[in-house]
Amino acid sequence: MTLPIEVIERIKVIETRKQDKVVKAYLTWKNNKIVAVQCKLCSSDITGLIETDDENEIEYTKLKNTTIKKVPMTYAYFANYMEIKIQFDDKTYHVTNLCKNCLKSFITFEELEYVYLCDLFQFEVNSKIGLGSEIDWETLKDRIPDKITETSDAGII
Ligand SMILES: [Zn+2]
Repeated sequence: MTLPIEVIERIKVIETRKQDKVVKAYLTWKNNKIVAVQCKLCSSDITGLIETDDENEIEYTKLKNTTIKKVPMTYAYFANYMEIKIQFDDKTYHVTNLCKNCLKSFITFEELEYVYLCDLFQFEVNSKIGLGSEIDWETLKDRIPDKITETSDAGII
């Protein structure tokens, strides 16, 4: 599977308009799980692995006079994590994420288009490594982002 020609053309247009932006993947996978997400607009980490604070998961091993503490990592949404719901010209919706800081500033049409194309690019990357769900390119390839209709910092959209 490769990106539909319509999506490739849209990527060319947005990369020409926004010379500082290249449509890119933003997920880090490890053992078939997402372990980090970057903001598509500024590349700051919005989720990732942190040391667990669950005392039940922390292992202590005594070795002679030393205690070794083993702290497992856990996946976490960072304080700057935000979700947005994008409405398209065909009245369909798409939920994606950005950082709080980028969302504070005015998001232009070009930025919304860029964010959406990064998502389509990421879907394609996921499919190449055998992850993610089936991609309905017929629905996704032509729809144009219209506006953000909802935002949330709790991942509830
Ligand atoms: Zn950002």
